[in-house]
Amino acid sequence: MLSKVHLPSSAAEAAGLLREGGWLIGGGTVVMPKVNTGAVPVDHLISLRNAGLAGIEVNANTVTIGAATTLAEVGADDRLGFLDPVIRSIASPPVRNLATVGGNLLVPQPHGDLAVALLALDATVHVESVNGRRAISVGEAVAEHEVVTEVHFELPTAWRYRKAMRRRHNSAAIVIVAAVLDGERTRIALGGVAPRPIRAHAAEQVLRRDPDAVVEAAEAARAGIEPFDDAYASAWYRARVLPVHVRRALLGED
Ligand SMILES: Cc1cc2nc3c(=O)[nH]c(=O)nc-3n(C[C@H](O)[C@H](O)[C@H](O)COP(=O)(O)OP(=O)(O)OC[C@H]3O[C@@H](n4cnc5c(N)ncnc54)[C@H](O)[C@@H]3O)c2cc1C
Repeated sequence: MLSKVHLPSSAAEAAGLLREGGWLIGGGTVVMPKVNTGAVPVDHLISLRNAGLAGIEVNANTVTIGAATTLAEVGADDRLGFLDPVIRSIASPPVRNLATVGGNLLVPQPHGDLAVALLALDATVHVESVNGRRAISVGEAVAEHEVVTEVHFELPTAWRYRKAMRRRHNSAAIVIVAAVLDGERTRIALGGVAPRPIRAHAAEQVLRRDPDAVVEAAEAARAGIEPFDDAYASAWYRARVLPVHVRRALLGED
C-alpha cells in the first residue's frame, strides 16, 4: 500500500531516493491508475513535481525541454508551434495537463506520440542516476534507477507529422509518421508499427537519393516494422496503411 510520496528538490535527490526503492511519478497518468487499482504494489512514490525539471528554453535553434514539463506546456509555447499538431493529437486536454515529456518518452507504443516526434528530431535524452549523467537517444533503454532530466533538439526546417487514429480524443495511434525533410539529414520516425518508435532508414535513403521519390520511399518504410494487434487496429492493417500515411505525410497532405 502507498505510504509516502517524496518530493525531491533536484534530479540528483530523486535519483538517490530511486536507488532506495519506490516508483518515479511525472504526471501520474500511467502510474496513478496502477497504484489506485493495486495493479502495481507500491510503498513509495517519488514525484518530480518540485525537482526543477520543468521548463522550456530556446536558444537560437536549440531547444531544451525539462522532463517534468507537461504536454500542455509544450503545446502552449509559440516558439514550438511546429509541435502543436503532435500535442493536440495526444489524449485530451485533461490528460495533457498532467502528462509530462519524460513520461511520454517511456510509455509503450502505441502511446508515446511525442517520443516519435522527438526521434524524428534526433533529440538527445539526458538521464541522471547516482552514478552520474549520460546522454542517450530516443527509444534507447533508460536504466532502472535513472531519471530522465531533459531533452535537447534543433528546430527543424521542414517538418511533417501525421497520426492515423480512430477518433479525435483519447485514441492511440494506428500509425504515426514524423519527419524532418532536410536533404542529407532527412529523418523519418514511425509510431504504432513496432514496440518502440523506430526510424524508417530505408525510406530516408530513398529520399536522400531522390527527394521526389515519395511513393518509393513510402513503400520502403515497411522495412523493419514489427506491427502488433491491439484494440485500435490489427498488425496486418497497420502494415497495410503505413505507406499511405507516409506518402501523405511527405507530401504534406491532410
Ligand atoms: C485516456 C488516455 C489517453 C491517452 N492517449 C494518448 C495518445 O493519444 N498519445 C500518447 O502519446 N499518449 C497517450 N496517452 C498516454 C499518455 O501520453 C501518457 O500516459 C503520458 O505521456 C505519461 O506521462 P506521465 O508524466 O503521466 O507519466 P507517469 O504516469 O508519471 O509515468 C509513466 C512512467 O514513466 C516513468 N517516468 C515518468 N517520468 C520519468 C522521468 N522523468 N524519468 C524516468 N522515468 C519517468 C514513471 O516511473 C512510469 O514508469 C494516453 C493516456 C490516457 C490515460
